[in-house]
Amino acid sequence: MLGEAREAFRRFWPLTRGDRAWLGVIIACVVVSALAETAAILLFAELTDHALKAGSLSAFWGPAGAWLGAAALAALVGYLGNSLATWTAERFVLRLRAAVFRHVQDLPPHFFQQHRQGDLVERLTGDVESIEHLVVSGVVGAVSAAFAAVFYATAAFWLRWDLALATFVLAPFFLLAARHFSGRIEQAARDGRVADGAITSVVEESLGNVVLTQAYNRQGDEEKRLDREARAWLRASVRGTRLGEMYEQFVEVVETLCVLVVIGLGVWEISAGRMTLGQLLAFAAFLGYLYPPVRNLGRLGLTVTAATAGARRIGEILDAEPAVTDPADPVPPWPVHGWVGFHDVSFRYPGARGASLRSVGFTAQPGELVLITGASGAGKSTLAKLLTRFYDPAAGVITLDGVPLTDLPLHFLREQVALLPQQTLILNGTIRENIACGRPGATGTEIEQAARDAAAHDFIAALPDGYDTLIAPGTAALSGGQLQRIAIARAMLRAAPVLVLDEPTAGLDAVAARQVVQPLRRLMSGRTTIMITHDLSLAPDADRILVVDHGRLVETGTHEELLARGGAYARLAEPLPVVVTAPAPTGDDTVILRW
Ligand code: ADP
Repeated sequence: MLGEAREAFRRFWPLTRGDRAWLGVIIACVVVSALAETAAILLFAELTDHALKAGSLSAFWGPAGAWLGAAALAALVGYLGNSLATWTAERFVLRLRAAVFRHVQDLPPHFFQQHRQGDLVERLTGDVESIEHLVVSGVVGAVSAAFAAVFYATAAFWLRWDLALATFVLAPFFLLAARHFSGRIEQAARDGRVADGAITSVVEESLGNVVLTQAYNRQGDEEKRLDREARAWLRASVRGTRLGEMYEQFVEVVETLCVLVVIGLGVWEISAGRMTLGQLLAFAAFLGYLYPPVRNLGRLGLTVTAATAGARRIGEILDAEPAVTDPADPVPPWPVHGWVGFHDVSFRYPGARGASLRSVGFTAQPGELVLITGASGAGKSTLAKLLTRFYDPAAGVITLDGVPLTDLPLHFLREQVALLPQQTLILNGTIRENIACGRPGATGTEIEQAARDAAAHDFIAALPDGYDTLIAPGTAALSGGQLQRIAIARAMLRAAPVLVLDEPTAGLDAVAARQVVQPLRRLMSGRTTIMITHDLSLAPDADRILVVDHGRLVETGTHEELLARGGAYARLAEPLPVVVTAPAPTGDDTVILRW
């Protein structure tokens, strides 16, 4: 446990770079503040013995002025130290979150399939903050508490070492209590975070799926799902609070015991004339000041345990490797013509049992349209993911103008190969921003021209806010076909020599699909296009058709050649049979009619 905390600390401590001098200033403030408090207590003892007991006003002014000075100094450094501590802590959170977010953004698609979104949200919020408690607040808290404890303990010893020793005998109780509770509180904290993430996930998934919920009356089931996770959270939260409270109350009782011991011993000492009232009060005050830092040190153990749980969850993200990285020695950019080559490419998804592509080889010349078709799950989208380098092949090479993709800067590759994925990707912003993200810095005229080429200008101009209309993922302001044309305009603007279209007409009705065919033709003209599709209406236009089956390329040729061959493609291109179920009394007679 402690080893893990140390490892977590070592991993995240470098993020405090740049702010370490401030950590020093904060600790200096704490030290000065503790010194001022110590002086105030000693002045209080002096006031009790010389001014209060003697009833002398002349003995009052000196110590009173000094006390006020000490209090003002403590207030100033307290304000400075606390403000600085919050600032430094939040800057750490900012940096850590940015680092984790940057890492997450480069992770491969399967990472996001394996982690629920709510869980990732929780890690980027709650867990990031809990690590701050370990690295920044933890260090400041530990050093401050240790300094303060040493000050007050020294002062108590200096006043009466024998009395101090008698009261410190009870100290091990604090340590025992802290050790007893920390493990259980950590478990509760971890359970709480997991449940928090699960709640966010359920709410997100349910709201994202609200049509299914309403159409199939699944409200009750969704509520039950949320209830299950919420109850887990409730249990963890109550358990955590209960344990925390038990610990606090136990410490409170031990503290009272200490105070009573001091007063008992004090009464005895005063009656024997070995101590003044001022000394006793100062001694009790030092003990009173000693408890909070000691408590904080005890609680620090609990913070560390909770933070370690968070560090483990963040560590899981940071340890996930991006599937692709920039080459160490990249080929310098050149004006790409658009030759695409797959040479004996095989690929298996991380963690998958079988290969998704086996020895696939084909080439596309600049400006050619290559259509890839085949049954669902055959490996078509995987080809697109490899060409856009979301993954690298396990064997074989993919080339652009003869250069292996792995030798290209990733940024350059993604500029050359534009992807139009199956689901239309929409940014949260205006239509103009959505098109402009194809080429940041594009002028208004260029954006409008792209929209015209994509047959999107007319419907955009008809909107009350035109190009400034706000759209967001999941909103229904525009139809699927319209969104697809915005995506086509974006790809037009990108002007990449290679285009990868993944089922561009899937999800569109026949009318909408017809409306995107012309814009698509315009988009494809002059570009090497790899189009993955079930819809073979563009097949006669294709320079080459590839039929994929179970990860293998089973047929290659033009539409006519493949039809003439009468193989897999001919079967795919064949019109579907119409199935009519005859109302036969036995109920199992099925007549298949071909048309
Ligand atoms: P298609 O696009 O032809 O429908 P895909 O290329 O999406 O097929 O998938 C090819 C095969 O790879 C399928 O068997 C599918 O189950 C598998 N697959 C796809 N994505 C993953 C993944 N992230 N992890 C493991 N297997 C995957």
